[in-house]
Amino acid sequence: MKIGIIGAGQLGRMLALAGFPLGLSFRFIDRSPDAPGGQVAPLRVGALDDVTLLGELAREVDVVTFDWENVSAAGLAAIEAQTTVLPPAAALATSQDRLAEKELFRQLRIPTPEFAAVDSERDLERAVARVGLPGVLKTRRLGYDGKGQKVLRSAADVAPAWQELGAQALIYESFVDFSREVSIIGARGRSGETRFYPLAANVHREGILSHSIAPYSNRGLQRLAERYLRAVFARFSYAGVLAIEFFVVRGRLLANEMAPRVHNSGHWTIEGAVTSQFENHLRAIVGWPLGSTAPTGHSAMLNFIGRMPERARWLKEPNLFYHDYGKEPRERRKLGHCTVLEASAAARDRRLKGLLRLRERSISVA
Ligand code: AMP
Repeated sequence: MKIGIIGAGQLGRMLALAGFPLGLSFRFIDRSPDAPGGQVAPLRVGALDDVTLLGELAREVDVVTFDWENVSAAGLAAIEAQTTVLPPAAALATSQDRLAEKELFRQLRIPTPEFAAVDSERDLERAVARVGLPGVLKTRRLGYDGKGQKVLRSAADVAPAWQELGAQALIYESFVDFSREVSIIGARGRSGETRFYPLAANVHREGILSHSIAPYSNRGLQRLAERYLRAVFARFSYAGVLAIEFFVVRGRLLANEMAPRVHNSGHWTIEGAVTSQFENHLRAIVGWPLGSTAPTGHSAMLNFIGRMPERARWLKEPNLFYHDYGKEPRERRKLGHCTVLEASAAARDRRLKGLLRLRERSISVA
């Protein structure tokens, strides 16, 4: 069995690493010859919407999937006639547009922050009047890791925010005073079988995921999150891994966004769950039975962003799993992560505290 992956970032590389023991082999397409996936499997370099290149990949493999949200949905749709593309291109297209995504949530009765579409400065004024302040103005497309976003705190922020972002289609959302951010990750197989990981609690800094803990045990929220994920699965006759990120507000979940792919907040599953999100994504799209999503302990995952810390120091840490994606350092770029696994939540929380301090020291001094 050969799997084609569009996008050869760290997610693609981790998919391949999870797939080799199952006997799967991989082919990548990426815009960059240095993309991490190219370290582990053959990589074709070119534009991700190049229909000729996509067609070549489609002919070579049994199933095509993707590791990046901004893959061309039209390009995928074009190769759907030639090969199996999973998750479905329609789910990808929805996740690429924050407005379509929020409208889908609304249709499926998944609560979201208040929102309004913004295509003109007048729309923005109306949206601010209706949704209120503070709020967040976001580009509908191509925003990730906090890019293309502006927080509006007072009426005086409206005109400058419009100046900065108004060239693109926008969405204005209420600013949510959340107590936590959590995400649910689940897999649906081609036969309709579903499995859900326990919730992860996530902390973002400057719009980028800093660290996650899992399981975040809350029976009520887990049930709600699974129900919401199931609704999205059903809408798209989905196969593969899907993630939804939520804000927790007074015991309720408000959906922020969905990702029709493996997700950074699920990296803990590599060592912290019986079957990782990467393996389950592959099992799901190939049509194999899904693996257990049960946690094997209490995990904390820390991202390494902008600069890798000194490896030797981190490898001294017990129960710690170190991942270097082999990427060139660049500001705000995810270069690696680590996961620690402990027997209790209290022990995990203590480790996390120490490791956050160590990360601060080792990355700023490096
Ligand atoms: P996003 O790109 O939408 O995932 O946003 C990145 C991060 O910015 C989120 O994980 C939150 O920490 C923060 N954020 C985004 N939207 C909102 C919102 N409407 N209210 C409060 N914080 C937000």
